[in-house]
Amino acid sequence: MPRKIAARRSAIHGNGVFAVAPIAKGERVIEYKGRRRSHEEADAGDTGDADSGHTFLFTLNDEYVIDANYEGNTARWINHSCSPSCEAVLEEDDGDDRRLDKVFIEAIREIAPGEELSYNYGITLEEKHTKELKKIWECRCGSPDCTGTMLQPKKDKKSKKKDKKKDKKKKKDKKGKKKD
Ligand SMILES: [Zn+2]
Repeated sequence: MPRKIAARRSAIHGNGVFAVAPIAKGERVIEYKGRRRSHEEADAGDTGDADSGHTFLFTLNDEYVIDANYEGNTARWINHSCSPSCEAVLEEDDGDDRRLDKVFIEAIREIAPGEELSYNYGITLEEKHTKELKKIWECRCGSPDCTGTMLQPKKDKKSKKKDKKKDKKKKKDKKGKKKD
């Protein structure tokens, strides 16, 4: 697919990903790439920075997490938004190897050049959503519908990005690819 996006500093948070050409509704923008690691491995740490509500982990399935700290691409810079222009779509491989499942970021509406791309990280945490956690996962997407947090209501189970709880105890967390 031709390159229609570029990463640069974002007003929302750190780096962001922006359209550099018109993107059509339904268009597959980019694959979320990265190393496949087990949840245990990912929970054990060493997967990038904490404190910022940024993470490069994305829950692929029950067995694996995509760790975009390794072999990741531009997709890891796409920010969360409460009114996103994109969604993350899981494509399951036909075989038994769940490492071969893939995640693609697809546009859910037209995106004009210069617009920042975003999707809902769908982060859910098992623990109570304390003030501190809300602070870590604060959302500054600027949308009129912004809930102020990337954390999703507890019942919503379709989380995607992975949260690193264990790390959080140590320090805090980083921008989550969602998981629960
Ligand atoms: Zn928001």
